[in-house]
Amino acid sequence: MTYIHETITRLKSTSPAQSEFYQAVEEVLDSLQPLLESNEQYKRHAIIERIVEPERQIMFRVPWMDDENNVQVNKGYRIEFNSALGPYKGGLRFHPSVNASIVKFLGFEQIFKNALTGLPIGGGKGGANFNPKGKSDSEIMRFCQSFMNELYRHIGPTTDVPAGDIGVGAREIGYLFGQYKRLTGRYDGVLTGKSLLWGGSLVRKEATGYGCVYFAQNMLDDMGESLEGKTCLVSGAGNVAIYTIEKLQQLGAVPITCSDSSGTLHHPNGIDLATLKDLKEVRHQRLKAYLEVHSDAEFIPVSDYPEDGHAVWRIDGQLAFPCATQNELTAADAEVLAENGCLAVVEGANMPSTQSAVDVILDAKIYYGPGKAANAGGVATSQLEMAQNASMQRWSFEEVDDKLKTIMANVYTSVRDTALEFDAGNNLVLGANIAGFRKVADAMIEQGLV
Ligand code: GLU
Repeated sequence: MTYIHETITRLKSTSPAQSEFYQAVEEVLDSLQPLLESNEQYKRHAIIERIVEPERQIMFRVPWMDDENNVQVNKGYRIEFNSALGPYKGGLRFHPSVNASIVKFLGFEQIFKNALTGLPIGGGKGGANFNPKGKSDSEIMRFCQSFMNELYRHIGPTTDVPAGDIGVGAREIGYLFGQYKRLTGRYDGVLTGKSLLWGGSLVRKEATGYGCVYFAQNMLDDMGESLEGKTCLVSGAGNVAIYTIEKLQQLGAVPITCSDSSGTLHHPNGIDLATLKDLKEVRHQRLKAYLEVHSDAEFIPVSDYPEDGHAVWRIDGQLAFPCATQNELTAADAEVLAENGCLAVVEGANMPSTQSAVDVILDAKIYYGPGKAANAGGVATSQLEMAQNASMQRWSFEEVDDKLKTIMANVYTSVRDTALEFDAGNNLVLGANIAGFRKVADAMIEQGLV
């Protein structure tokens, strides 16, 4: 255990004030103990010391002019964390909470997630503390152009391939790509999540949510259970949540909640997906407006949330899918899930459960699918987009969806088998961390001290 303590102490002094990053590192190192004890080569090659340090961190000024002709300045980031398995790959997040700690925790998680897909992609992440909410289209365009004015020199189809994350969807990817093309004169597959009109892949939009449900399906199969008829709690109302709800419904489950930054929506008869999509994808409105169409639904504003947690996890449901953001499920939330007899928690978001929530979930024998395994379908399908771009081909919806299903089944199997190999029962956190780490660490050893 001392190496965990030593690593965190060192990080606290060399990379101060990065609590989310320490949280992500601690979780991984905690799981690695049995592997490190039985394999001394990882220590000999100082893999832990090297893997927690990004290969390169780029931080830059993003100046832009708003619609009132005021100068605005944001902070931009791209963390190129690890390229042992392939070009850096990972999204860009535009959200006011973005800082070095958030981008580094996301980049660190991405290394292992990408390794779990079995595809040749390294780990990276980026973003800006820019709030797209309430901005006009032209403001978004000017911001994206300014962001790319610095980013373009660091990325490339075989070096670093960003994509979307919170606050970055097809519109932002379009503006970023346009500026990249203008600056370089190249029509490269340098971003994923592109529009279907010009190089995007079918299923990319749906992939994180669909993949998360495929992962749950594999997990439930193993438990002798199925999705059929199960009531599901879903948090979030972005891309991941919407397509988690869609796939759950297609497979016969009944999602009854979703949430946004204003509050939680509870519709006991089941969420009406058409209304939700219209609100969030077309009209960009708050969830409360759902009640105008469905007066039998209930809306719980953030101001009414329990002090130690979130309203969505206090509702009775059989399966929980946190699909909003980091640390959105606390230990107190997890205790209520356990009391309500929740069977499984499957994470569509990145690190949505706090460390103490994970402890409660595992102690209560709730089956747990950690984000770095369960939400790997998004980045996996990004790699399928890269493959189509590189070969100048375009695959059908069924072809991509079939590959996604196979990838998620393989992710599940490798995570489960690794947990069994280390006598950890169905502790998929341990399985995911060891399976992902081992691939990256072995590649690092073979590539020498770089
Ligand atoms: N932002 C997504 C993730 O957290 C997708 C990254 C990508 O497609 O590169 O995995």
